[in-house]
Amino acid sequence: MDNHTIHQVDAVIVGAGFGGLCAVHKFREMGLKIQAFEAGGDVGGVWYWNRYPGARVDLPSIDYSFSFSPEIEQEWTWSEQFAAQPELMRYFNFVAERLDLRKHYQFNTRVDSARWDDARQLWVVRTNRGECYEARYCIMATGPLSVPKEPEIEGIARFGGQILRAARWPHEPVDFSGKRVGVIGTGSTGIQIVQEVGKQAGELFVFQRTPSFTMPMRNVPLEPAYVAEVKRHYAGIRELARNSNVGGVRPQSSRPFFSVTPAQRRALLEDAWLQGGLAMLGTFADLMQNEQANEEVAEFVRGKIGEVVDDPATAEALKPRGYPIFARRPCLDTGYYETYNQPHVHLRDCITDPIVSITEKGVRTQSGEVELDVLIFATGYDGLTGALLAFEVEGRDGLTVQQKWKEGATSCLGIMMHGFPNLFMTTGPNGPSALANVVRTSENDVDWTAAAIRHLQAHGLSSIEPSAQEEQAWMDLVHSLAPRTLLSKAKTWYVGANVQGKAPGLTMFTGGFQKYREHCLAAIHKGFSGYHFAQKRERERAADASATVENAAH
Ligand code: NAP
Repeated sequence: MDNHTIHQVDAVIVGAGFGGLCAVHKFREMGLKIQAFEAGGDVGGVWYWNRYPGARVDLPSIDYSFSFSPEIEQEWTWSEQFAAQPELMRYFNFVAERLDLRKHYQFNTRVDSARWDDARQLWVVRTNRGECYEARYCIMATGPLSVPKEPEIEGIARFGGQILRAARWPHEPVDFSGKRVGVIGTGSTGIQIVQEVGKQAGELFVFQRTPSFTMPMRNVPLEPAYVAEVKRHYAGIRELARNSNVGGVRPQSSRPFFSVTPAQRRALLEDAWLQGGLAMLGTFADLMQNEQANEEVAEFVRGKIGEVVDDPATAEALKPRGYPIFARRPCLDTGYYETYNQPHVHLRDCITDPIVSITEKGVRTQSGEVELDVLIFATGYDGLTGALLAFEVEGRDGLTVQQKWKEGATSCLGIMMHGFPNLFMTTGPNGPSALANVVRTSENDVDWTAAAIRHLQAHGLSSIEPSAQEEQAWMDLVHSLAPRTLLSKAKTWYVGANVQGKAPGLTMFTGGFQKYREHCLAAIHKGFSGYHFAQKRERERAADASATVENAAH
C-alpha cells in the first residue's frame, strides 16, 4: 500500500463485529464507496478476541443474529439455544462469505486518528499502517466491550508462569491439565472460565472480589422441528423483538412482585429457576424498580447457592450481598456453583483477604502467597466509552471526544454527537447498549445512519450534526429515566465504576429498546428537525451530478 496516497472514499467503517458488518453491507447496497478497518485478524468483533474455554452467548442464538437478510436466516442453522464462541465465529464467517464483506476490510489495522475537516466537510482518517483515507462519513462500530481493562495489580510483569487475558485469548488450545491455575475476576467472563477450566486444571484458585449472581443457563440443542418452525416465522419473531423492551423474544410479565401471595411468588421463582436462562427476569414486572421485590429474588438465589454448594463458608462467600440482583449483568452458568464442590477448586475471597501483588510465583494476598503455573485475568472492560477514547477523534473546531466526554459521555440517541458532524456510532453510550440485544441495536443504528445519509443526498447537503439543544434533550431524557431503575446501585462497568478516574454515571438509555427505536424513528420522520446541516458547494453538486449521469450510463 502506498503511504503517500490519500485514498478517497464515501465512508470509513471501524470494526468487524455485528455493527461493522451490518454497516458495510447496508452502505454498499446504497452505492457508497467504503473502506472498513478492524484491529483483529478477521471478522467477529468481541467474539474474535474472546476465545477462552466456555465462551458462550447469554442470549438465545436465534435472537443474536442478523435480521436484514431473509436468505441468511434460512440458510444458517443454529445448533444450540445459546451458541458457543466457535459457532458464533462460524456464523460471522458464513455472513462475511455469503455477502462477500471481507473484501471491504483491512484486518490487523487500527485507526489511529479521525479528524473532521470542516472546510472540506470530510473526515481524515489515519491508520497505524501510515495510510490516510478521506471520507464524508465515519461510522464507529467499535462496540461497547472492546477495550480490556488492565487489572491494576502491582507486579504482573514479574510473574514467571503463563499469563492469559480472557479478552485476548490465544488462538491455540491451552492445556491446563495438572496445572495450578488462578482466575482473577468473577463477572460473566470469569464464571464461564471457572466452570470450564475447573474440569481440566490440577488445582484451580478463584480470586473473587465481588460475587456475581448467576442462574442456570440450561442450554439445549435446537431440535430440527423447532428450527424449522423458527425459520417459518422469522419475520414475525424479528418484529416481536424490535417491539420488545430488550430487543429479543423472551418472556416478559406485567405482574408486580407483591401482587401475588408469598407461596405463589415462591412457586413462580422455582419455575423460573427450572426454566433457566433469563426466565426469572421476565417473571415479574418490577424487579428493577422495586427494591424490596428485588431483595426477595436475590435472597431466593442466595438460598439456591446454599443448596448447591457443600461447604457453608464457601457458599456464604459466593452469595452476593449489598447490591440488587440484575444490577450487575446477570450471568447464566452451567454448573458454576457445583464447581466449588470439587476438592481441587478453591475460592479465595478478596474482600476479606485482598490481593496485594502478583509475584514471580503467583498471587500474594494479605494472608499469604498462592503459587501458580497459569494466571488468567477476567477483569472486564473499559465499557461503552473505552473504544472511542482509545484513539484521537477530533470533531469541529478541534474538539476531541476526550474533551467532550470528560464529565461523562454525552450523545444524541447514542448515535451522533454535537460537534462531530457525519460521525455515527453503533451501540454507542446513551443508547440502550448492554441493556438490549446488541444485534438489534446495531441494525437500528445502521438503519438510522442510512436514513440520515439518504436525507443529505436527497437535499444536496454535505453534513449532519445534532444541535446542542437536541443532544441536551436526549441526555435529559436519559438522565431522568436512569434513577427509575436499580442499575446505578451496583458498582459495575454499566456505571463506569470499574475504571479508575472514569466519570461516574449510568450512560445507557433505560427506557427499553422499543421506546429507543420510537425516538430514532421519530427523528427520521421529523426530517431530522433538531439537527444542523451544511450545504454542499456548487463544485461538489456539479461533481455529484456528473457521477449520477455516469452511473446511469453504465
Ligand atoms: P466484569 O463483569 O466487569 O467483571 C470483571 C471482574 O473482574 C469483576 O468480578 C471484578 O471485581 C474483577 N476485577 C477487576 N479488577 C480486579 C482486581 N484488581 N482484583 C480482583 N478482581 C478484579 O467483566 P466481564 O466478566 O468480562 O463481563 C463484562 C461484560 O461482558 C458482561 O457484563 C457481559 O455484558 C459481557 N459478557 C457476556 C458474556 C455472555 O454473553 N455470556 C460472557 C462474558 C461477558 P469487582 O466487581 O469487585 O470490580
